[in-house]
Amino acid sequence: MSSVAASAPPSAQPAVSVASRAGVATVVHKFGGTSVADAERYRHVAQLLLARDEAMQVTVVSAMKGVTDALIGVATLAAEDGSAWREHWHALRARHRGAAVALLGEHAGATVEWLDQRFDQLAEVLGALAVIGGLPTEVLDRVQGMGEVYSAQLLGKYLQTLGEDCAVLDARDVLVIERGELGVDVDWVRSAERLAQWRLQHPQSRIVATGFVARDRQDRITTLGRNGSDYSGAIFAALFNADELHIWTDVDGVLSADPRVVPEAVQLEALSYDEACELAYFGAKVVHPQTMSPAIERGLPIIIRNTFHPDHPGTRITAERTASGPIKGLTLSPDLAVINLEGTGLIGVPGTAERVFAALRNAHVSVVMISQGSSEHSICCVVKQAEAVRARESLLQAFAHELSLGQVQRVQLTDNVSVLAAVGDGMAGQPGVAARLFESLGRAQVNILAIAQGSSERNISVAVDSRHATKALRAAHAGFWLSPQTFSVGVIGPGNVGAALLDQLQAAQVQLLGRANVDLRLRAVASRSRMVLDERGLKGDWRAALSGPAQPSDLEAFTEHLLSAHLPHALIIDCSGSADVADRYAGWLAAGIHVVTPNKQAGAGPLERYHAIREAAAGSGARFRYEATVGAGLPVITTLRDLVDTGDEVLAIDGIFSGTLAWLFNKYDGQVPFSDLVSQARGMGYTEPDPRDDLSGVDVARKLVILAREAGRELSLEQVRVESLVPEALRQASVEDFMAGLPQIDAVFAERLAVARTEGAVLRYVARLTPDGAEVGLVALPAAHAFANLRLTDNVVQFTTRRYCDNPLVVQGPGAGPEVTAAGVFADVLRVAVGEGARL
Ligand code: ADP
Ligand code: ASP
Ligand code: MG
Repeated sequence: MSSVAASAPPSAQPAVSVASRAGVATVVHKFGGTSVADAERYRHVAQLLLARDEAMQVTVVSAMKGVTDALIGVATLAAEDGSAWREHWHALRARHRGAAVALLGEHAGATVEWLDQRFDQLAEVLGALAVIGGLPTEVLDRVQGMGEVYSAQLLGKYLQTLGEDCAVLDARDVLVIERGELGVDVDWVRSAERLAQWRLQHPQSRIVATGFVARDRQDRITTLGRNGSDYSGAIFAALFNADELHIWTDVDGVLSADPRVVPEAVQLEALSYDEACELAYFGAKVVHPQTMSPAIERGLPIIIRNTFHPDHPGTRITAERTASGPIKGLTLSPDLAVINLEGTGLIGVPGTAERVFAALRNAHVSVVMISQGSSEHSICCVVKQAEAVRARESLLQAFAHELSLGQVQRVQLTDNVSVLAAVGDGMAGQPGVAARLFESLGRAQVNILAIAQGSSERNISVAVDSRHATKALRAAHAGFWLSPQTFSVGVIGPGNVGAALLDQLQAAQVQLLGRANVDLRLRAVASRSRMVLDERGLKGDWRAALSGPAQPSDLEAFTEHLLSAHLPHALIIDCSGSADVADRYAGWLAAGIHVVTPNKQAGAGPLERYHAIREAAAGSGARFRYEATVGAGLPVITTLRDLVDTGDEVLAIDGIFSGTLAWLFNKYDGQVPFSDLVSQARGMGYTEPDPRDDLSGVDVARKLVILAREAGRELSLEQVRVESLVPEALRQASVEDFMAGLPQIDAVFAERLAVARTEGAVLRYVARLTPDGAEVGLVALPAAHAFANLRLTDNVVQFTTRRYCDNPLVVQGPGAGPEVTAAGVFADVLRVAVGEGARL
């Protein structure tokens, strides 16, 4: 798919012979605009160069940062609008004069004069453009390359004022190139001849040369295309027969992805030429795609390195292949479109592809990517957005006959597309790389419009909607372990459990990132009335953030915020206990947001909502987990799920699901009245604020419903027979009146206990699901029964299944308390992360 179009330098090229000091090499350095933004940076570059011990040092420079854009801008302005360009021209001149004065001090005079002359010439050209009201390409080429001419002069003069014997080489005097459709073609023979001529006058061993600019065979000034100074560096490296090419920029080398899109991108120590070509071709701006061709031909190492960290070794690009993993890097190419030619008449017809490409070629449309289904029913090309309409027209014309006959059904254009490319020599012959890429994108809910893999197996490219491009790149980057699996996390309901969870989450964050490569980024916390939304993730005290200048709660804005980060995954943890929040689950899940909750509303609420939630999750692949709804942190639902998933059949579920009721009946031996025990439990925080919520048995019934549904039963809360321990008369009373009236029931309980005792039994509040129905209530159990011998607030769940028939499977342990409940929720969160590819 990618091709590098320059003809390689002939191996017998007349290389310029340079007297070299024994053992010390010829090195070409290239400094990008990012390295020469102002006088201070030129000074830094000069120091860096002077510190190096090289027999021959050729330094290729770009224009000062932003100058090429400014020159293009001023030329365009002149052509469009009579005099508006002057102001910008002044600013540019002032910037260069300022740099000269700051850099050269008392020696600046001649250089400022030199600059003034150049700027006067520029003004003449711009004036002429204003008169003709147009911008011919030749003129644009002349103007846009001036920044390099100024820049080389500044650095060269500075080195001279430092006492160095340094020559300034204007590449327009030596480089001869031709710009064709496939890129730039270097005329090596003529360029080498001209350079040899130039060298006769300039034998210095330190040279500063202009990047970007050259001449064509007609001697017109031209450029190597945007970002072309890297290529200039490689061409000069070939012409000077250099041993190495160092490309200096503002990052530590080639990174695994564009760091502006993926801040976690990692630096790559080494790349093969092929890998670097693919990355560059598909948009890694750090190096120009054609740079590699002169280097490949002569095995010249290219080192990409950081002007700001000169000691960093950077990235070494050589012929050597070092497969550290299947994928080295990922790139995004924006501003593309997909064009799809579709028709039953294409099946088995030879030459269709050829006609497509001929038509596109004649319309001067360059094809970025091609894919054809083996059914041959359609051919799909990715082209530049700017050429998309032209491409479509050309295909409509070329296939007009087939369209009229109905053999071709349509030529369809999809705008606003980006191509994501995954690159690495290591993917050759390795199964599963494409799968990993597609899986990462699928999990991040990114739709793939077209796919292509070169047969070199060095690159897999997918076309995606540009609106999803950032998310896609981040998801793929994480999918290949190049950066952590990142979740945009929101927590609702920072009450007891919610607060404990937030604390646990924050405490574990660093370790999860380091050990498991999972980044759970807490980006939103909402209570009933207030919420905080944080762009980068709440790191400090969430309590303070929520009590500080928070905004009113709004779950729409909360959701929007979670999704806005273009992070691969979003997750909402609902610790609210609210039915209104549960009403939103289906919507969230459908949008691909995972939901984790200890809230029983969804699992035990109306069946209709429950089914809607399940369907939404199944549809999008987002996960809905609620382990902590039963038995707090105990693995109750996970165990049940495993049973069901492995094909077991659940015959019955029994247990004690309420820590509060467990404690009350474990303690109740008739000595202390039952109402006293309720008061004690309330005092110790074992009960809900209103103990009737525990004593009514509804909470236990809810848990039974959740388990029943998990076991595949369509059970509703109304179908559970519930024995409430709250006397009829006290159900409507205030909490205080209820507590005051509670001794009324002591006699009843004493009586029930006495009866049980006569049979050698104890009282326990038990839930029970059998094929005949579901019930919760107080029962008398033999004193030897497992449920009769639990510790204080322990919960127990007993599964009787086809496999665990004679000897049921039992899950038992502490089943209440904010800490263990939060831990259960957290475990669910981690299970979601694992499901998305995290390695715990
Ligand atoms: P220069 O002016 O030095 O030529 P550029 O701006 O042309 O610098 O290229 C360097 C920039 O390329 C970096 O600052 C970085 O933001 C961007 N970039 C894009 N993709 C990558 C990548 N894969 N690795 C490193 N940098 C990248
Ligand atoms: N200055 C030119 C550009 O901005 C060339 C370069 O910097 O590589 O495209
Ligand atoms: Mg560049």
